[in-house]
Amino acid sequence: FNVPTPINEPVKGYAPNSPERLELLKMLKELKQQQRDIPMHIGGQEVRTGKLLNITPPHDHQHVLGQFHEGDASHVQQAIEAALAARTQWADMPWEHRAAIFLKAADLLAGPYRARLNAATMLGQSKNAFQAEIDAACELIDFFRFNVHFMQQIYQQQPESLPGMWNRLEHRPLEGFVFALTPFNFTSIAANLPASVAMMGNVVVWKPANTQVYSAQVLMELFKEAGVPDGVINLVYVDGPTAGEVIFNHPDFAGIHFTGSTGVFQNIWKTIGQNIHKYKSYPRIVGETGGKDFILAHPSAHAKAVAVGISRGAFEYQGQKCSAASRVYLPSNLADEILGYVKEDLASFKMGDVEDFSNFINAVIDEKSFDKLAKYIDGAKADAAAEIVAGGGYDKSKGYFIEPTVIVTKDPKYVTMCEELFGPVLTVHIYDADKFDEVLTLVDTTSPYALTGAIFSQDRYAIDLASKKLVHAAGNFYINDKPTGAVVGQQPFGGARASGTNDKAGSLLNLLRWVSPRAIKETF
Ligand code: GLU
Repeated sequence: FNVPTPINEPVKGYAPNSPERLELLKMLKELKQQQRDIPMHIGGQEVRTGKLLNITPPHDHQHVLGQFHEGDASHVQQAIEAALAARTQWADMPWEHRAAIFLKAADLLAGPYRARLNAATMLGQSKNAFQAEIDAACELIDFFRFNVHFMQQIYQQQPESLPGMWNRLEHRPLEGFVFALTPFNFTSIAANLPASVAMMGNVVVWKPANTQVYSAQVLMELFKEAGVPDGVINLVYVDGPTAGEVIFNHPDFAGIHFTGSTGVFQNIWKTIGQNIHKYKSYPRIVGETGGKDFILAHPSAHAKAVAVGISRGAFEYQGQKCSAASRVYLPSNLADEILGYVKEDLASFKMGDVEDFSNFINAVIDEKSFDKLAKYIDGAKADAAAEIVAGGGYDKSKGYFIEPTVIVTKDPKYVTMCEELFGPVLTVHIYDADKFDEVLTLVDTTSPYALTGAIFSQDRYAIDLASKKLVHAAGNFYINDKPTGAVVGQQPFGGARASGTNDKAGSLLNLLRWVSPRAIKETF
């Protein structure tokens, strides 16, 4: 049997008075009036500890959306036990039944869950309706459907046999449990990290970022309604070190599926290394981490196209995509024109809450992020090497609002050209238009990361040169387009160097990490 051929989920437009906008507005209102009591989910049971933490929208931090129950080490232990108890039955289930569950999840999300998951993402993570739609709805539906398609390819791939024998490949799930440690910035990634692992017959302990708990709760309901059995995905809310202490010391720890910061991932890798003798198998370590993504314009570039790439690629979702442009190299012949267009764009971007759909910019995720960004902005204001040419304002009185900010620097190694900021603060370096070769070396060596990057040029030789010299500088390389917005099945996403293990999200490569094949030879 063949699974249905996946097609990317069409993006809804949310035009004024469209049915989808009216439904979403109604849902936002409903959610805002509720006070959600959010439990952990262990072995299919809702677990409440009474240790409550408030959930507030980043754009309105005095409004309480609900509370979640924080757990401790004992809950992580229980989650592991529940996962291991569910393992055999789930691993033995024929793959097409697992596939059916996730195809159903996709359909539920395309239909009745769409507005609720979008609304929860908007309120909990301060993401506007259009950005929520391409994340929580379309990308997640695509992850489910395309992964099922890749899953089938994996299971159907079988070796040759000669007369007198039959060779088979059995794509076993890993022997143990997998830990999914997930980020706030994409609801689709938060869901896909546990789901793609589970799809391949594995059991999961899932710990989302505290700032994504609100939509994680909806995801858990979705998994349940789609038919994911109890114990297959266990959702715990505990602080990172507490979870790590239990998980990385457990003999059945079989792998981690991670998206988050480079520092956390490197520490996890070290801990796993230190504990390697304790595990039954070498754990799979799959992670997408930081980025310092670039846009490079060649002197032949189309100025307006570069400007659109910058305004969208650096500031959508307040620059909090791992893929967001955060360092830009402009040639001296075009810099003024491009920056002029960018300033016009930024002046037209409205900033505010998520209920007003005309707000392009919403709040950054939390106070810690706000304070960090404000510090970099203050640094630039005080430094002769930097000039703020747009934005520069910030205000956390109601929500964590940072104006989209553009810093121009003569120093290509200026601090904000090098460090990951993860917010709406972009740094631009203007290079001598005759020195394109030199700037290629700068782009390649300024940052340890290699997630996304974009070259804008109308000169094919320059594109070819950049493509060659920057071959390891980005896992997702864009020619004449912004570096964000990878689509599942079209641009498999992930980076190398300090940006991750590059096991592309939503790809065959990724799913292969979650199986441990057994080759069987039978002779007759
Ligand atoms: N896949 C997303 C994009 O292309 C970015 C994912 C991330 O932020 O981790 O924009």
